[in-house]
Amino acid sequence: MSAELRELYQETIIDHGRHPRNFGELLTANHHKEGFNPLCGDKIMLHVQEQDGVVEKIKFEGCGCAISMASASLMTEALQGKTKQDIGDIFDAFHDLVTEGRSSDILGKLTVLAGVHEFPVRVKCATLAWHTLKAALANDTNTVTTEET
Ligand code: ZN
Repeated sequence: MSAELRELYQETIIDHGRHPRNFGELLTANHHKEGFNPLCGDKIMLHVQEQDGVVEKIKFEGCGCAISMASASLMTEALQGKTKQDIGDIFDAFHDLVTEGRSSDILGKLTVLAGVHEFPVRVKCATLAWHTLKAALANDTNTVTTEET
């Protein structure tokens, strides 16, 4: 990775860490899940609006280190409008990125977190939001059934 690219990645992470996108409550959400990374103290609450297997909106609240907040922020941007199938593929690719530094075309802007793999203690910060989302989507009891009119 070139120095310029590394700097650009750093700037994006700092920007998303300080000014997270899609931060706040989501009244139309039908999945809610809390995630916690005790190693670092990162806390996250995800609100997901899903219909017919498509994640229409994701918002989050919480507090934590720059990596955890930036990863959650970038995740909400990247996964909006994706199907659960797509999200599964992106999840796997993202996991490879932050654990092994292996990048993939489907990651797009998420590639800025590639440097995380050099800091194993930070991997849990970067993946917290993702594991929380996976759990949120798997939790069927939280699914709201919309009545047909
Ligand atoms: Zn952290």
